[in-house]
Amino acid sequence: MEDSRKDILEQVRRLMPARTLDLLARPLSRVEARVVAERQAYALLRGLGITKPSVDIELVAELPEIEVVVVPGLASSGYSQWNPRKRQWLVQINADDSLWRCRSSLAHEMKHILDDPFREALYPGWRRDDAAGSAEAEALCDYFAGCVLVPRPWLEQAWRAGMRARTALASVFDVSEALIGVRLRQVGLERVRPASRKWRGDSRTAYRRSGVAIRRAGVGLRQAATSPVGALCPGGAL
Ligand SMILES: [Zn+2]
Repeated sequence: MEDSRKDILEQVRRLMPARTLDLLARPLSRVEARVVAERQAYALLRGLGITKPSVDIELVAELPEIEVVVVPGLASSGYSQWNPRKRQWLVQINADDSLWRCRSSLAHEMKHILDDPFREALYPGWRRDDAAGSAEAEALCDYFAGCVLVPRPWLEQAWRAGMRARTALASVFDVSEALIGVRLRQVGLERVRPASRKWRGDSRTAYRRSGVAIRRAGVGLRQAATSPVGALCPGGAL
């Protein structure tokens, strides 16, 4: 394990079709990016020797290129930054978040780290000095985190075995029920419910609440934007 561990990130990175993108002179489409992310998620699990839930994502902290610290009062859920002196990625996780959010944030940050060498090709409009991040990158890193923590084959296996309650599934995968809900829809085991009158009302309330949250987060983002590199990851309800 010790010798092979140092190559895991490189092996997972190789799944990014960088030369093809270079030839085509375009970024990945959203669908293509998700396919690559899912392949990378399973390659990371194989590399770490994880064969069943719950996924021990904390093993990434043992990779030689990764240092993980848990910090109270962080302005975001997670943050990753290359430390050239140590030649390591420093991953900061917000200690104030729930443990399920922390696990999700750690997996999310791994995708930022995997994609960093390809950032200009994948996100042409996202400048290196823009600490606020890119909405597309954030969504893709969230998707990757879901694939890592709740892999499609294992979720389908549990579903076929008759496990349908989100509480039970969340317990098996050691994630939030909200993430289980997202993954059930993403793998097609649950359909997206059509908007009802009540849902639209709830949605307006949620929208107003999220507006407040975004304005509050904006203060933190502006303060942290003085940081020279890295990406602040606001996180969600997962
Ligand atoms: Zn992020």
